[in-house]
Amino acid sequence: MQIVNDNGCSWINDLDPRSNTKTLKKNEECEWLIIGAGFTGLSAARKLGQLNPTQKIILIDAQLAGEGASSRNSGYLVDTTLNDGFTSNKDLENYKKKTDIYNLGIKAVKKFIKEYQVDCDWNDCGKFFASSKKEDKKILKNFSYILSRLGFDHYLLENKELSKILGTSFYNIALFTNGGVLLHPGKLVRAMVNSLPNNIQLLENSELIKWSKINDTISCDFKNGNIKAKKIIFATNGFLKSLGIKSNYNFPITLTASMTRPLSDQEFKSIGEPKEWGVLPVRPMGATIRMTKDRRILIRNTAEVYEPYHMSQSVLNKRKVKQKIGIKKRFPQLPEDIIQSSWSGVVCRSRNSSQIFEKIDKNIFVAGCYNGSGIGVGTLFGEQIALMASNEITEEIKIIEKRQKPNLLPPQPFLNFGIKTRLFYERLRASSDI
Ligand SMILES: Cc1cc2nc3c(=O)[nH]c(=O)nc-3n(C[C@H](O)[C@H](O)[C@H](O)COP(=O)(O)OP(=O)(O)OC[C@H]3O[C@@H](n4cnc5c(N)ncnc54)[C@H](O)[C@@H]3O)c2cc1C
Repeated sequence: MQIVNDNGCSWINDLDPRSNTKTLKKNEECEWLIIGAGFTGLSAARKLGQLNPTQKIILIDAQLAGEGASSRNSGYLVDTTLNDGFTSNKDLENYKKKTDIYNLGIKAVKKFIKEYQVDCDWNDCGKFFASSKKEDKKILKNFSYILSRLGFDHYLLENKELSKILGTSFYNIALFTNGGVLLHPGKLVRAMVNSLPNNIQLLENSELIKWSKINDTISCDFKNGNIKAKKIIFATNGFLKSLGIKSNYNFPITLTASMTRPLSDQEFKSIGEPKEWGVLPVRPMGATIRMTKDRRILIRNTAEVYEPYHMSQSVLNKRKVKQKIGIKKRFPQLPEDIIQSSWSGVVCRSRNSSQIFEKIDKNIFVAGCYNGSGIGVGTLFGEQIALMASNEITEEIKIIEKRQKPNLLPPQPFLNFGIKTRLFYERLRASSDI
């Protein structure tokens, strides 16, 4: 099975097309092999390259580097999450551990963009958790209590104030948190590709088909060759399960999103000329919606169990209709044909929304499973898994290791039945806000 992405993602299409990409054409041997070149794999490669300047390090991806979920996301670098996967965060102690990791993730991205002078439309404008349902105030008040206990700067807003800021009167209640960042994920991940150390050999459009461990060597089969590595890091996130990695602990979910063209002056005026903003849903299956710096509207409002390798254009077109309706509900004055692009992307989930960061065997390491927080956490986990694999123990690793570990999943067919039932229920609960 080959990973085939639609090529409709605006974030990726904003970037210059890449040239001189290399694929695997012959058998190779190396000290280090990293599978997957998204935020995690690129960050792991950068760190390994710095730590081991004389060793042979290969970073390989089934598609073009950074063009999986890492460039197909909504661009929220989160400090807090209300719905991380299926769970609402009620447990203060575990929630603190989670936000400690988010905080380190923001720091890791900040450090990277400072060091490499990256322009990725960084805007630390915070974010809203908003709902059209007045009764969701109760959920937000509970969340506010947790945030206050942990010292996060935030406040509640209601319809009038919100419509001035967002340019839509759709939302009735929201909680604003000050600490989140909005950015252009395509620009960020492209900067990670461009700044790989010279000793990293980047191979693209080369999919790992099968792997095994023979004595202390990891042998990996690709369509056009084999790579033998002394040490390997799996950074394939939504595709960990399909490679048999921690497969009883994680599963893929496919999301779809759409982006409008930039609003014209007149259209922008008709919605009150708002500044850039980002809204996350109060209920898990509600829409994520964002006004970008250049006046485009992004909406992500589907999540489903789907064969992760490829979403057909006809299915994607059906999801686009949902996104069109989502925009129309919030901005009825905008024209029907305003969507410029629609795309799908695959994320990785665990039962209890916990991340994977682990040595799974001698010389075999894995980092992933971030749900909707992979920009920061992926960057952090990539760097730290490289350090851990190099036998270093950092303060960050100690904090990461304190997190709750993923719970065991039920076997198939119960797993898919359980996920589908849960998604269906959450979709019903959030139906007004999709
Ligand atoms: C629509 C959408 C919205 C999102 N919104 C946000 C958001 O606002 N904020 C946020 O923080 N996160 C968000 N996420 C999640 C975020 O994108 C991911 O958590 C993040 O991309 C994970 O990075 P990664 O490098 O671990 O995995 P990926 O970016 O998925 O990279 C994994 C790479 O592995 C490669 N690969 C897979 N299998 C193989 C194989 N067999 N051989 C070789 N290579 C392989 C893939 O091609 C891919 O490039 C969103 C995701 C989606 C899809």
